[in-house]
Amino acid sequence: MAFLFKNGEQLYNEGLDMIGRRDFSGARKKFVDAVQKGYGADGMADVYITILDVGANRSNIGSYKALRNALGNLKVGSFKFGLTDIDVNDLIAEVELDIKEIEANNLPDSLYKEKSAALIACAGEYMGRIGEKNLKLDEIFKGTTAATGSREALILQAEGYYVLGEGSVSEDPKLASEYMQMSYNFRKQLGDSGDHELRLAQNYARSARCWICGRPANGEGIHFLPMRSSIAPVFAKTSDGEIVKPFSDDIRSIYVCVPCYTAISNRSDDISREYYERAMAEVHAIEARLEAEIASVRFSASMHR
Ligand SMILES: [Zn+2]
Repeated sequence: MAFLFKNGEQLYNEGLDMIGRRDFSGARKKFVDAVQKGYGADGMADVYITILDVGANRSNIGSYKALRNALGNLKVGSFKFGLTDIDVNDLIAEVELDIKEIEANNLPDSLYKEKSAALIACAGEYMGRIGEKNLKLDEIFKGTTAATGSREALILQAEGYYVLGEGSVSEDPKLASEYMQMSYNFRKQLGDSGDHELRLAQNYARSARCWICGRPANGEGIHFLPMRSSIAPVFAKTSDGEIVKPFSDDIRSIYVCVPCYTAISNRSDDISREYYERAMAEVHAIEARLEAEIASVRFSASMHR
């Protein structure tokens, strides 16, 4: 029995060496074997196994939950993972927030109010519980100490306001534009370009009048669309002095509200389908006629053999 016990401890130490050499799959196997031999190192083997599982799949919520449980069983306040010093309570906070973040991201976009609220609440917790400290799992698996709690909070706020902007644009494009603008501001703070968010904010805010029915509409690409057209200067002139114009700045497209646009494109689809079906019917008639002629030529050729 003493021999078995020692053997488990040896396996455990080999696992630690392998973590040092960043052979993570090899290390995991050693820790599992050590536990099977009855050596769990007061719960540390389970902690290493579950940390390695998280590293192998950073979006698997089950692995984070298993790690959270394993950390809760520890009697020590800190440990080492390779060269990285880890404070148990800090890692517990990080793992709990990772779980919340995955749960928030898993909400469907159709529940955009709940989803954005969950993402933004999560951001607040990253700020409060981790703040300027760096995320240990990123240090271990990505080798970076640049990912801090406050940086993660900015990412989550950018995402939260993006979801809110996208979700509310069909009801209130002006408000959606303000949300998108906030998302853009968080992206800029992160050092990202934010081009995508800025373009959406501008599109959502843009207003136009429908050239066809004259109705006003907010939100380019959502409630109105440009349609290529030839607009003589005389027509453009009639809109001089109007803030909300029925054509694009380059005077190459008219603006059309989505109800007018879909009515036109549906009707044109119907017309094309009619033409297509008529053309196919003619092709099939020609085909049948040719086949009949070929058959009759073959028949008379065989008669002359
Ligand atoms: Zn219209």
